[in-house]
Amino acid sequence: MRVTQHYLNAIQNNSFNFSIEILPPVKGQNIQHIFNTLDPLMEMKPAFIDVTYHREEYVYKKHDNGLLERKTVQKRPGTVAICAAIQNHYKVDAVPHIICGGFNREDTENALIELNFLGIDNLLVLRGDPIKSESTFIAEENGHKFASELLEQIVNLNHGNYLDDELLNSSQTDFCIGVAGYPEKHFESPNLNIDLQYLKKKIDLGADYIVTQMFFDNQKFFDFVFKCRNSGIQVPIIPGIKPITTLSQITSLPKTFHVDLPDILALELIKAKDNAAVRQIGHEWAVQQCRELLKNGIPLLHFYTMSKSEVVNNIIKELL
Ligand code: FAD
Repeated sequence: MRVTQHYLNAIQNNSFNFSIEILPPVKGQNIQHIFNTLDPLMEMKPAFIDVTYHREEYVYKKHDNGLLERKTVQKRPGTVAICAAIQNHYKVDAVPHIICGGFNREDTENALIELNFLGIDNLLVLRGDPIKSESTFIAEENGHKFASELLEQIVNLNHGNYLDDELLNSSQTDFCIGVAGYPEKHFESPNLNIDLQYLKKKIDLGADYIVTQMFFDNQKFFDFVFKCRNSGIQVPIIPGIKPITTLSQITSLPKTFHVDLPDILALELIKAKDNAAVRQIGHEWAVQQCRELLKNGIPLLHFYTMSKSEVVNNIIKELL
């Protein structure tokens, strides 16, 4: 089922749905690792499960002669295969994140064909962050510089237009396409209004829904939705919720995701005696955020689980 249909179903049933986001395990672990993470959550019936994509990184290996050798490694491979395994094992929709970074147009088309053959019809389409050791995003030769360009390629495929325009009898795909939105703006954008113009471009090109970056102040989400609607964006906007579980996240989340923690939350976390207290504060904050979002008519919540399924489980139990 399409993500947008899950969204509509929750509205029609006068209830709420939720989705979760997981990371592929680090190389060396097997698919059971994913099932162990998901098993406890499946009784709560998530609408769909997103699987993130992690591009290659450079690592340096020191040789006996002192010279360094640069190696390219992908530490968390397997996004597409994990999605197929999830759909097969749980009969739930899985949504792979697909990115511009590391792919040229031909690689992208081949990946989309594989996804289509596997019966994976939902995508979250992103540019991807710069490779870890690089300060700016660099597109592959004949690759895409922005998510909007990648989106265009997918929309073309949905119309049966492949890169080779001489292909005969080419079949159309039917991908439901999500894109990212940033209530506190994307970190490279000069301001929120300009960021919104590019978000609007993604919607005008054919994106079906938006999933937001995590936020901890609901007012920022409500303001963002208001601005989106005012600029003519009418697609579902699914809020991203991140339950805080460790004290170190008080600095790592703002640093990595460019989001603010409100004073009350930050001060409470600083006072927490141990990680159990932090988890309790994070839980209560997330529950209160979700309750307010649901009260304001948001029918679908997206949880950044980071493989901590019991944390999301406890939140959902309290919301039911
Ligand atoms: P874009 O929409 O391309 O925007 C990137 C920047 O360029 C923005 O500042 C935008 O304002 C600007 N811009 C857009 N179009 C233009 C244009 N035509 N001209 C000039 N400027 C423009 N990263 C991963 O690597 N893997 C993941 O699995 C992943 N999952 C994510 C899931 C969610 C829900 C979110 C919110 C982010 C995720 N990310 C992931 C991170 C994401 O890849 C980064 O935030 C990335 O830096 C931007 O991606 P984007 O798709 O928003 O890019």
